[in-house]
Amino acid sequence: MIADLHTHSTASDGTLSPAALVAAAAAAGVTLLSITDHDTVAAYAELPDALPAGLTLVPGIEFSAQWSRRGVHVVGLNIAPLSDALAAALEGQRRVRTERAERIAARLVRLGFDGALDGAARLAGSASIGRAHFARHLVERGAVGTFAEAFDRYLGNGKPAAVGERWPELASIVAHVRDAGGTAVLAHPAKYKLTHTKLDRLAREFRAAGGEALEVVSGRQVPALTRSLAALAAQHGLAASVGSDFHQPEQHWAALGRARLPAGCEPVWARFAA
Ligand code: AMP
Ligand code: MN
Ligand code: MN
Ligand code: MN
Repeated sequence: MIADLHTHSTASDGTLSPAALVAAAAAAGVTLLSITDHDTVAAYAELPDALPAGLTLVPGIEFSAQWSRRGVHVVGLNIAPLSDALAAALEGQRRVRTERAERIAARLVRLGFDGALDGAARLAGSASIGRAHFARHLVERGAVGTFAEAFDRYLGNGKPAAVGERWPELASIVAHVRDAGGTAVLAHPAKYKLTHTKLDRLAREFRAAGGEALEVVSGRQVPALTRSLAALAAQHGLAASVGSDFHQPEQHWAALGRARLPAGCEPVWARFAA
């Protein structure tokens, strides 16, 4: 079993179409895949009926949420992508994302980047706009040399074009995942740069809200981090998930199907409702 339960397509801020993503995952040896686009399940409507042999697709999503005034991400796995409960939640997320893009663009205009909203919207196409689209736009117009620099200088948390997040609270996002029949996973816990005490509180509150797993491995990470996240999951009675957080083939640190769960973890797929 090679599981990759966190990936992005052109339905959000990835660069491969859903069909190309599935083909690339199969070529990388992935046997259990989830496409988890930001706040949308549009990828699942675009997929061909026939999947590559040996690949099982688990319907998923990466929800944006808010916890203790910070943005956090919840991966919902094994959800029913067409449920009415999910559709209502996604409509709300789309509204927050649209309004947030306008606020980001207003800040960029004040920083001298006229037309940032149009530029990002063009890159997003039918996907809703995220910071990655603004970052690509800033690269395109030569404002920064690289995608990473766009976050370092403008779009990252605390930087001049970052805005206060207005996503729904963590507990209500977990409830949406559960209402859609899914398993809620706290995504990339180390990315929030929390102290040990705060991360422990986040894990406890996530579990209390009905969360079921922690992303113990996200892309390429050092073994010490994997060990500490595996211990945190076990301490809180949470299962373990694993994903590349793949966005594009050029990001070699997030290659499809490379990340593996350490021995001794309870894999999240053991919890998927039959
Ligand atoms: P958003 O959902 O609009 O907040 O955008 C979050 C996405 O932006 C992440 O999933 C990444 O694709 C990208 N991102 C966020 N921070 C960084 C960073 N420091 N460097 C590169 N990409 C980033
Ligand atoms: Mn992304
Ligand atoms: Mn994320
Ligand atoms: Mn992601």
